[in-house]
Amino acid sequence: MAGEPQADCLFCKIVTGEVPATVVRETDTTVAFRDINPQAPTHVLIIPKVHYPDAASLAEAEPAVAADVLREAARIARDEKITEQGYRVVFNTGSGAGQTVFHTHAHVLGGRGLQWPPG
Ligand code: AMP
Ligand code: ZN
Repeated sequence: MAGEPQADCLFCKIVTGEVPATVVRETDTTVAFRDINPQAPTHVLIIPKVHYPDAASLAEAEPAVAADVLREAARIARDEKITEQGYRVVFNTGSGAGQTVFHTHAHVLGGRGLQWPPG
């Protein structure tokens, strides 16, 4: 069924605690944890507890949860004190864009200058 946990999904295992992570915030619908290979002083991933492969499929099936992920991105930025200097919220979508984990996740990046356009 859509949104159900997937046995072979790393981020579903972070939701259940089967795989450890440095969790910074949790809500009824989301978990936020530090990226294991940070690309900036702040690099936090926000995932929905439900499993969808990417942001587009989450937004289509469960728009309220997609909104929760975005709201949490702003909350994390506030907690990390990067709101004023600016930060980036990234959803890599598809392997050609660098997506390696196919469970929706928002990268929140900040704490350094961020170039535009990104690479
Ligand atoms: P993406 O390449 O957009 O799919 O992002 C996946 C991200 O997950 C990468 O930035 C990885 O560094 C990160 N990552 C992979 N495994 C873990 C883990 N066990 N805990 C935290 N972050 C992870
Ligand atoms: Zn998953």
